[in-house]
Amino acid sequence: MQYRKLGRTGLEVSVIGLGAAMLGSSDTKYALKVAKRALDLGVNYIDTARSYWNSEAILGQALKGRSGEVYISSKTAATTKEEAWKQVHESLEHLNTDHLDNCHLHGLRDERDLEKRLGPGGALEALMDAREKGLIHHIGCTSHRSHILVKALQRFNFEVILVPMNIVEREPLQELIPLCKQEGVGVTIMKPVATGLLPAPVALKWLLNQPVDTLVPGATTVEEIEIDAQVGQMADITLREEEQRRVDQLKKLLDNKRCRICAECEPCPKGIPIGTTLGTDVMYDHYRNMGPEAFRRFPWSVERVREEIERRKNRISQIKSCNQCGECERKCPYRLPIIRMLQDMVEPMEDMVRAWNEQLVF
Ligand code: SF4
Ligand code: SF4
Repeated sequence: MQYRKLGRTGLEVSVIGLGAAMLGSSDTKYALKVAKRALDLGVNYIDTARSYWNSEAILGQALKGRSGEVYISSKTAATTKEEAWKQVHESLEHLNTDHLDNCHLHGLRDERDLEKRLGPGGALEALMDAREKGLIHHIGCTSHRSHILVKALQRFNFEVILVPMNIVEREPLQELIPLCKQEGVGVTIMKPVATGLLPAPVALKWLLNQPVDTLVPGATTVEEIEIDAQVGQMADITLREEEQRRVDQLKKLLDNKRCRICAECEPCPKGIPIGTTLGTDVMYDHYRNMGPEAFRRFPWSVERVREEIERRKNRISQIKSCNQCGECERKCPYRLPIIRMLQDMVEPMEDMVRAWNEQLVF
């Protein structure tokens, strides 16, 4: 595995990390297998969050006796100091550790949100206190919107950022990443394979040729982490001519198919969370990537499935309430065919619910 310096934190992190969002979705035995396999392959940076179901607790178990091998980055989506302080302690407890190597402010949405979390009494104050007490070692922030992260960095000396970037979504290269490089901020990348729309080897290889420190592809299966880690183990990551051609083709093909979760199309008069639905629905992405049969065979967590069935039914009826007013499509800067994209999700989602119900019965 290749390693790079994570900005000015001084941490030497594997170029392929583990995005642990989905660990809480499979049964514990299988999730432990994924996490342990990642460590065996040389992955030493794990990205989790308070809000990723029981991902922190699974990692706490997986890291028993191996905590010295890995850096843990978690996140709090709290807005207030009090709530963030509570969440940092919950993370430590679930992860069974006395410190987090990094803790992010999770998912900065817009300037109002920034004002709240970075202002007096906001979540950032709790992270600063926690860092002073050694409970966390570094402070970072995440957002799906590059320009919000630029604003965050202009207000506070964050040490790490986490942002989506891939062959299709390249906005961070314009202003955000140059600023990070100038200030010594660690650059960590989520959605490196655009939630499975891009083939992992070429997508990860392309990213490792950009000025980034580590990629944290979300891995649900052992096979996924093995494929991802192979790219991190390559001695030479130079893109060959045919790979560069493939990158250009993929960019062209997916440019008006991939939602950037920029929220420019919202609010929808029917209350449909368009960006979240099109861009961050990891369970739906798994169904699409695995196919119906493998999805049915996968050992999902029973607790997660019970929750997810209800959530999914709500999402389906939200989409069905769309009256095709077209307001969202007029506002989308990427000209995505939003109405069709939403409608195309209904049938697979109904099959996901059927698959989970079958799994609960047997
Ligand atoms: S077309 Fe549908 S999704 Fe788009 S704004 Fe109108 S109701 Fe909402
Ligand atoms: S559909 Fe378009 S405007 Fe809406 S979040 Fe996605 S990329 Fe942004």
